[in-house]
Amino acid sequence: MVQGDPGRSSGSVTNRVIEFRGPPLPQYNSIVRPWRLPLVAVVLLLIISCQTVPLTGRQQLVLLPENMELQMGLDAYQQIVKKSKLSTDTALNEQVTRVGRRIADATDRRDYQWEFKVFDDKQVNAFCLPGGKIGVFTGILPITRDDAGLAAVLGHEVSHAIARHSGERVSQQLALQLGVVAFQVALSGRDPRVMQLGTVAFMGLATGGLLAFGRSQESEADRLGLIYMAKAGYHPSAARDLWVRMGEASKGKPRPPEFLSTHPSPETRIQQIESWIPEALRYYQPR
Ligand SMILES: [Zn+2]
Repeated sequence: MVQGDPGRSSGSVTNRVIEFRGPPLPQYNSIVRPWRLPLVAVVLLLIISCQTVPLTGRQQLVLLPENMELQMGLDAYQQIVKKSKLSTDTALNEQVTRVGRRIADATDRRDYQWEFKVFDDKQVNAFCLPGGKIGVFTGILPITRDDAGLAAVLGHEVSHAIARHSGERVSQQLALQLGVVAFQVALSGRDPRVMQLGTVAFMGLATGGLLAFGRSQESEADRLGLIYMAKAGYHPSAARDLWVRMGEASKGKPRPPEFLSTHPSPETRIQQIESWIPEALRYYQPR
């Protein structure tokens, strides 16, 4: 949705510029009139940069080449490994590698250099960076409880990487910056108060859009994660149970209202997961 907004803004901006500055147009018979060139370039860039998310089939805008995204993932991973304390617990490491390997195989991304590490850290968290670098913090393990619970977390994290969510977010930030510039160009010459109010309103709408988009990426990772865990042989209902436990563990802790958050509320999340379990069960291969 946000990926559409800056596009629309820059489109209308271009039209405004044309209205004010356009010379009497010579009769070209091609669409590539000089004033349309930037617009054509932007449209071409957007078409070239459109990717399709596996399984959900969603079209997404990713301006970053994938190899750059993989390199960024690798750099970030090396930094985290350097700065963090790795767990030496053999059983935990074996569990994370065992479950992580099964989820990784279910994604069919054989080109990823998959790696699995356990960090001795009480954060309730886990991650998968672009390129398949997986980290699990020991703080989440009491909540994941068993292999199926861990598979739900790893399915979700791996899905962020497979669906290229970080590349997509970087692209949106870029599109937003272009949108702000275009917006200001469109308002240039107007009353400064109009410009100021307009920019504030634009940024407010854009920020709301980015937050909503963050929540939709989380939901997409939940949906894809259910499918990958099911393909890996873990019953997808374990994801629902995990999020119930996660909700209980975070009870009483302050959290922003859903519309101000990059994450769906636990209630929304559980409801959505329940609605996607039948879809994931079509991929379920019990072992
Ligand atoms: Zn997530």
